[in-house]
Amino acid sequence: MRIGSGFDSHEFRPGIPLKIGGITLPHDKGLGGHSDGDVLLHAITDALLGAIAAPDIGALFPPSNPKWKGADSAIFLREALKRVRDAGYRVANIDASLILAAPKIGPHAAVIRARVAELLGLHCDCVGLKAKTPEGLNLDNAALAHVVVLLEKTPRQKKKAPKRK
Ligand code: MG
Repeated sequence: MRIGSGFDSHEFRPGIPLKIGGITLPHDKGLGGHSDGDVLLHAITDALLGAIAAPDIGALFPPSNPKWKGADSAIFLREALKRVRDAGYRVANIDASLILAAPKIGPHAAVIRARVAELLGLHCDCVGLKAKTPEGLNLDNAALAHVVVLLEKTPRQKKKAPKRK
């Protein structure tokens, strides 16, 4: 088994869509960033990459590359997942904490969990999501995400015995 942890933060900016966990949430501000600013998918991506000691999201998808401007962060997550599978592992479960003052995540948590589960090929029961407000941190204009992921070895496929005629 391997464990990975991921962290990310993005600043809120007016006039852009808010994407969290691959879902566009109704809000008057979005998260700035070179890609779509999806703080949760970035933290999950880094947790997956960290678990297999691969280069991090910034190394694989540098903000200096115009190719990733406005990119759907699901692209980053899929690449990380491919690397996990190529290394002989599969995701057992993930647990995420979102820290943001607004909007309230509760009403959207089930949809976000379902989308993250879909992207990772997991059952919803294997995706934990908690949301907290940044009390005492003076971070009301930012969203933060912490993620822990557990990987397990992919079982080897048994070779099928040749059929007898
Ligand atoms: Mg990021």
